[in-house]
Amino acid sequence: VALACPFRQNAQMSCQGLLTQSIIFTNAMSTISVDLLIIPEWIIPIEPAGIVLTDHAVVVRNGLIVELCKVSLARSRYLAKNEIVLPGEVLMPGLVNTHCHAAMTLLRGYADDMPLMSWLQERIWPAEAALASAAFVHDGSLLACLEMLRGGTTCFNDMYFFPEQTAAAVQATGMRAALGLVIIDFPTAYASTPDEYFAKGLALLEQYRGDDRLTFCLAPHAPYTVCDDSLRKVAALSDRLNLPIHIHLNETLGEIEAHRAQHQLTPLERLDRLGLVNAKFLGVHAVHMTQADLALITQRNAHLAHCPTSNLKLASGIASLQGWTQYGINFGLGTDGAASNNRLDMWQEMRHASLLAKGISGDATLMDCHRTLRAATIDGARALGLDHRIGSLCAGKAADLVSVSLRDIDLQPLFDPASHLIYSASREDVTQVWVSGQQIIRNRKSSYQDEAALLQRVAIWQEKARALP
Ligand SMILES: [Zn+2]
Repeated sequence: VALACPFRQNAQMSCQGLLTQSIIFTNAMSTISVDLLIIPEWIIPIEPAGIVLTDHAVVVRNGLIVELCKVSLARSRYLAKNEIVLPGEVLMPGLVNTHCHAAMTLLRGYADDMPLMSWLQERIWPAEAALASAAFVHDGSLLACLEMLRGGTTCFNDMYFFPEQTAAAVQATGMRAALGLVIIDFPTAYASTPDEYFAKGLALLEQYRGDDRLTFCLAPHAPYTVCDDSLRKVAALSDRLNLPIHIHLNETLGEIEAHRAQHQLTPLERLDRLGLVNAKFLGVHAVHMTQADLALITQRNAHLAHCPTSNLKLASGIASLQGWTQYGINFGLGTDGAASNNRLDMWQEMRHASLLAKGISGDATLMDCHRTLRAATIDGARALGLDHRIGSLCAGKAADLVSVSLRDIDLQPLFDPASHLIYSASREDVTQVWVSGQQIIRNRKSSYQDEAALLQRVAIWQEKARALP
């Protein structure tokens, strides 16, 4: 098998403009100019579900997918500025990480082997109080974006302070993100009062209105850290501005018991009474859910995010994907922050999600490889309200693409590329990554120019964290 990917040209792609399907039909008999033809060994488009295409090309123009078609047809119909042939590689949509705290990558490995509440109260919150400045969020977010892109994640849903710094990091790396406008009752270096959190979030929303790669969510931290007044305001803003709501939910039994004692309601019942639970609601973790909770999520067409590695490491428990599936709930996968994982690695999340679902349910058919790939792509995009733009390889969607090499000796023999993606391959096998048709990772190398300077600053943050009491 050939090892090199022949790049015929090194074209710069733009991400402006729209190419509609009608152009293809009206010009069907002539040669149409496009930016890029990608011809991998296999394509897993995610939609339609469960298929693997061979002898197909993906056609890209102005950052969008024009169509998927047979290679011979693509070469006769289109005149491409750039053609990339990827023998032994599988092309799929970029992975969608539905829950992250990107800046916390600077606390990777800072505090391990502790239960959630003491981990938060004794180590993480004091470290954040001492360190979490605009500069910290900027550098931590850059580090996270570079790690995620290299591993094939093209979009993440974030929740953290100083989201304007994360926005800058997303732009600098060419990534896509849904950024949470964080709301929490207690003061931080970012904001002192709930009003200030709201005001800063809304100003950021205004600043990036219409941006192609940045969207926003309202991100009240959790039912146990946000008061009724603020949650009501979140519900009203979500309605008025059509923004998704991104919130931690039912991560540990302890937080649910404490919530019941304080409010005489489960966290989800209270959120529902305050008007938050609807088709724009994304509850993260949902490790401990009653049948009534699952039924309510279903009735309201709300979404969940499953973060299996973080839940395992903090010993929070294991969410029942069997229950979620039986109720027909839409869910994506998330890494959570690198302080509790410690890899922003969606391949690990896919493998854990699939294997844990089988192991705890006793049903080996649960979360098969195609089902798991959908959770990490289109279903995550749906949970963020982005499924019309990303998550599958369909005409008109953004060309957010990942190519994975299945050539290595540890991936032989190969009967089914979809099986290898879940059960055998890893993020090190990702070779090429595009976001909106722009190539960000080429032959496993990032296009980001300032990596050395970033690593120097990360070393300084490491020393600052090490010096904390
Ligand atoms: Zn989290």
